[in-house]
Amino acid sequence: MAYLPAGMPAPQATREDAPFWTACNEQRLVIRHCNACHRFFHPPMPACPRCASTDVGWQEVSGTGTVFTYTVGYHATHSALKGHPPYNVAVVLLDGADDVRLVSNVVDVAPQDMKIGMPVTVFWDEISEGVNLPRFKKRLVQGSGAKDAA
Ligand SMILES: [Zn+2]
Repeated sequence: MAYLPAGMPAPQATREDAPFWTACNEQRLVIRHCNACHRFFHPPMPACPRCASTDVGWQEVSGTGTVFTYTVGYHATHSALKGHPPYNVAVVLLDGADDVRLVSNVVDVAPQDMKIGMPVTVFWDEISEGVNLPRFKKRLVQGSGAKDAA
């Protein structure tokens, strides 16, 4: 079951980010990577925002990360959200991708239990047949002693 109601609009791919969404549908998280300065960047652009090189490619990342910040939505900002319980919108700092952060949701944590710094891992939310969005789930960190991890 999708995290947000079925009436929520699906992402509309552009020429720049279409490979990102195509990879998502294959349950792979890929991020733009500059072949000149070897830095990751997001959202996808035709040139590196750091060094302006157009020698850019895509690299798959693990999908683990931490909650950089978040908010909890209580108001229906879209008609499909009317009557829907509160939901979080999280900014996730990805591991192994420099300072790249994805705006997403953490699907298995109640609003009052969201925490900055929470370890998370990607979860593929199939919003319609063959269309997957990268959302996140709480991640157990080995040796952390976390008792409340799922
Ligand atoms: Zn660069």
